[in-house]
Amino acid sequence: MKVRLDSDVCAGFRACLGLCPQVFEMHDDGYALARVSEVPPEFEEVVRLAASQCPTGAISVNEDCG
Ligand code: SF4
Repeated sequence: MKVRLDSDVCAGFRACLGLCPQVFEMHDDGYALARVSEVPPEFEEVVRLAASQCPTGAISVNEDCG
């Protein structure tokens, strides 16, 4: 599963970091980014949750790749 975080859409609410700091991190500019594009299997479920809970829809996942 791949994850993509659009920093232009992110509003910096940090919800994703609270859920999965192993995959998401906060950039110096106050917006989040994804540390990896390929999500380790053990974090797939929580990354799906982060994508569904992001208030701005900045996180998208692609289940078809990898
Ligand atoms: S939950 Fe969404 S809006 Fe909040 S920091 Fe993460 S990507 Fe940005």
